[in-house]
Amino acid sequence: MARAHVLLLNPALGPLDYRADRDHPVENGSIVLAPLGPRQLVGVVWEEDSLPSADQVGDNRLRPLLGVYDVPPLGAPLRRLIEWTSDYYLAPPGAVLRMALPSSSALDGSRTITEYRASGVAPGRMTPQRQQALDRIGRRQGLIRELATVADVSEGVVRGLVKAGAIEAVTVAIDTPWPLPDPDHVQPDLSDEQTLAAGTLSEAVREGGFRPFLLDGVTGSGKTEVYFEAIAAALRMGRQSLVLLPEIALTEPFLKRFEDRFGHLPVAWHSELRQSQRRRAWRGIVHGEARVVVGARSALFLPYRNLGLIVVDEAHETAFKQEDGVLYHARDVAVMRAKLEGIPVVLASATPAIETRHQAAIGRYTELKLTSRHGGAAMPAIDAIDLLVDPPPRGRWIAPTLVRAIEDRLARKEQSLLFLNRRGYAPLTLCRTCGHRFQCPNCTAWMVEHRLLGRLQCHHCGHMTPPPAACPECKDEDSLVACGPGVERIADEVALLFPEARIAIATSDTLSTPARAAEFVERMEAHDIDVVVGTQLVTKGYHFPDLTLVGVLDADLGLSGGDLRAAERSFQQIAQVAGRAGRGAKPGQVYVQSHAPGAPVIQALLSGDAQSFYDAETEARRVADAPPFGRYAAIIISAEKSEDAAATARMVARAAPRIEGMQVYGPAPAPLAMLRGRHRQRLLVHARRTLDVQHVIRDWFGALEWPRGVRVAVDVDPYSFL
Ligand code: ADP
Ligand code: ZN
Repeated sequence: MARAHVLLLNPALGPLDYRADRDHPVENGSIVLAPLGPRQLVGVVWEEDSLPSADQVGDNRLRPLLGVYDVPPLGAPLRRLIEWTSDYYLAPPGAVLRMALPSSSALDGSRTITEYRASGVAPGRMTPQRQQALDRIGRRQGLIRELATVADVSEGVVRGLVKAGAIEAVTVAIDTPWPLPDPDHVQPDLSDEQTLAAGTLSEAVREGGFRPFLLDGVTGSGKTEVYFEAIAAALRMGRQSLVLLPEIALTEPFLKRFEDRFGHLPVAWHSELRQSQRRRAWRGIVHGEARVVVGARSALFLPYRNLGLIVVDEAHETAFKQEDGVLYHARDVAVMRAKLEGIPVVLASATPAIETRHQAAIGRYTELKLTSRHGGAAMPAIDAIDLLVDPPPRGRWIAPTLVRAIEDRLARKEQSLLFLNRRGYAPLTLCRTCGHRFQCPNCTAWMVEHRLLGRLQCHHCGHMTPPPAACPECKDEDSLVACGPGVERIADEVALLFPEARIAIATSDTLSTPARAAEFVERMEAHDIDVVVGTQLVTKGYHFPDLTLVGVLDADLGLSGGDLRAAERSFQQIAQVAGRAGRGAKPGQVYVQSHAPGAPVIQALLSGDAQSFYDAETEARRVADAPPFGRYAAIIISAEKSEDAAATARMVARAAPRIEGMQVYGPAPAPLAMLRGRHRQRLLVHARRTLDVQHVIRDWFGALEWPRGVRVAVDVDPYSFL
């Protein structure tokens, strides 16, 4: 008889022991089905010594495993990665494991899945709900549950339509093989600089072994083309590559570029996949046929059969930091996975994070530089517009100089991009009569007006209300005013100035799915759009040759929050959005509107002297012992009652150990004092780089107990201080 030590897909449990008999032979990494009370849970067989059980159950009391799935076991490097992530980010190993495994239905042997789609037959009886369902489902296909979500109706409505014959079942094969991308489909013609960088990366892929690279190339320098050569090298060796992108909106244009270079699409992995797609992708990945996977951060924990390369594109993006569930940073975990797998990892960026630059500076990462744009395109000219000297008229946000520049582009049939990092129409609505401000009932946040959707919305919890006709406070009618601009309001301003211009709004509201993002890219490329008004979503990755003007409407916006990375983030964001201008044959011009054009960030952007800006920022971090020189961990305590959160926060603070090289600040109410109906308190741990903060926190919390309903979360290397 063999004992099987199993980590179950349940974050509340540590590993448990089971009996594996002759019918169920297992090895470390085997994916199994195990009984837990009356339930059955998926789990993975684990080394006893690396994740010890809390208590030993005698051999005679072990329950037998129920089954072993017929898929390759999770590799040792992935098991070590799960342990490392759990340890470093203080997350239960079962919660991390969940990111590696699909639903149990994807594990069973079935080769098909039943999906549904409109049949084209009208139902005998039409109701408004049925009409809505059929309208919204359109030509989509998916599980009943997926269609009901798309249509915003109950599953019962969709089932009713199936009965009525208006929706039909289709059988989808989920083991259709993935086509192999062809490394020699197109021979790229690389510049000398690109050839050198591509050669170094390909060589590292062929040699194998952990090698971290920083691919630091100006916007439009062809970083993608360069790392494509490393992917080609991995393909020639029959090994898998993983490309992580910060936003799923970027996957669609990436897929297209990839197909042009390699003749076939890579495998996409992100939250918008249908279950059938997810199952097919997971099986391709675990069996090693899915050779190139492009995905959002969740693709990082998948069980690749023989991974040969990881690329993190736009590696500076803070979107790689996961802000709920397991709080991890995908860029950092990617480097750790590469280390454990013994393979190269490429962090690509035009504006690398200070943390990453530092690793290059101390020689841990090899830096590869691309200093010029492809095809001789020049870097755009960047000028500031001082809003105190050259202000827009009252109630408008586009300064006269920028208006003239847009006019000019319209006349020349070139495209313009206006950047404002604010979704919706206006960030605040208030009553002119009594001063009442519309606030979210669940969060410390204003309700943002979305005029296109006809509602006020909280950007933190999603709470929505129709815009009221009268003030709820003083009951005055027609007294509500929108304060400040969002992208919708800027789009209105452009429409007023240039009635003939074709305008698009590009935000996470309008480009919410890969399909909509793809449509946007097509319309830009076909020149169906003259002016784009967008949030940070359009600052990265895109390549539109006819886009020659970029206007940054409020360069001061990002500096106000005042957290440790505010200046760096502003710099990155503006440099990235500026980098969208003039990428083709036509030169680009960037205008940066600011009330303080003398600020170091803006001066660095204007002069193009990123180096001294980064040097100064890095020095400030060194002096403050901030990352990467020291480390932070935030402790966030939340509860439904404000007193409960405060009491637990005080108790946690009182129990803080006194340790040389570590300081604990707080507790204090979080800037976002209420979120989703929970009151929040924060503490901040600041420690020397060499201190094992995780160990300290585990000991510290191990001796504490807090009331049910109070949540205590630890955010190691925090990016948000709200
Ligand atoms: P980055 O990611 O560095 O901003 P991209 O990889 O998007 O730059 O490249 C910018 C544009 O230049 C893309 O359209 C790309 O296809 C093109 N490009 C870059 N290098 C080459 C090359 N060697 N041959 C042909 N096209 C290239
Ligand atoms: Zn809210």
